[in-house]
Amino acid sequence: TEGSWSGADAAGGSASEAAADRPVLQVEHLVKRYPQTDRAVLDDVSFMVPAGKVFVVLGPSGSGKSTLLRTIAGLEPIQGGRILLDGQVIEEGSPQAARRVRSPGLAGPPGRSRDMRTRVGMVFQSYDLFPNRTVLGNITMAPVLVQKRESREVRQEALDLLDRVGLGDHADDWPDRLSGGQRQRVAICRALILHPEIMLFDEVTAALDPEMVREVLQVMLELADQGLTMMIVTHEMTFARAIADHIVLLDEGGLVEESDDPKAFFDHPRTERAQRFLSSFT
Ligand code: ADP
Ligand code: MG
Repeated sequence: TEGSWSGADAAGGSASEAAADRPVLQVEHLVKRYPQTDRAVLDDVSFMVPAGKVFVVLGPSGSGKSTLLRTIAGLEPIQGGRILLDGQVIEEGSPQAARRVRSPGLAGPPGRSRDMRTRVGMVFQSYDLFPNRTVLGNITMAPVLVQKRESREVRQEALDLLDRVGLGDHADDWPDRLSGGQRQRVAICRALILHPEIMLFDEVTAALDPEMVREVLQVMLELADQGLTMMIVTHEMTFARAIADHIVLLDEGGLVEESDDPKAFFDHPRTERAQRFLSSFT
């Protein structure tokens, strides 16, 4: 079953074992072109992410990693293939698909319903917190305004989430008072409170000072332990090896190597391309 995940490795005994192998995300023959370019930035990409698993995407700069996450999050239309969430088609390729201009958060693409938008959570390299809201305000805004949830209950959940990421004392702070690592943890809480079925992380530590990287990666490791389904783009190889259930190497818009054994992938990459990519990190 090339291009898919055998899911045979059930070691680790996570809480999600009962739901093992249920695909949360399926990407089928995805093709992405940006307007005014002929080249497909993503060319016939297929894979799936089972419930409770961590899918890590590696690849050189410009290989299409961010574009891949952005199409799954509904931030970019696709020109071919389809994307399914929990077995339901959420995005279908159309050669004429027009560019959507939107920012993440409250405003959504015209193609997806409001409910649909909250089902995929995403955290970016640059912490895009709203500067005119407190930490708590940043986290509670979407569930109250978009999901119409009761504000007291949302507030309590936000405070619990902040506790979990070590920011229990910062609920009333303004974003510009926080360090980069703290802001990224707030951004993670802001995505988590919408109870997404999958969380996408795009190089979330790339812009951080080294001493703040660890606190963010630690939160992600804990989320993985708790059985959250995640897709992670990272250049932190030690972290990738530790957290990945499944690992892929993206190059020039295609998956050039895949493994559900991260140790084997790092120690004995099969393709020359993967060997070359990994050797650039040592
Ligand atoms: P990565 O995240 O792996 O560095 P990207 O997904 O950002 O790669 O980019 C993949 C390719 O798509 C690059 O060649 C990049 O120049 C191009 N690209 C990215 N965003 C746009 C855009 N908005 N318009 C046109 N081309 C883009
Ligand atoms: Mg990128």
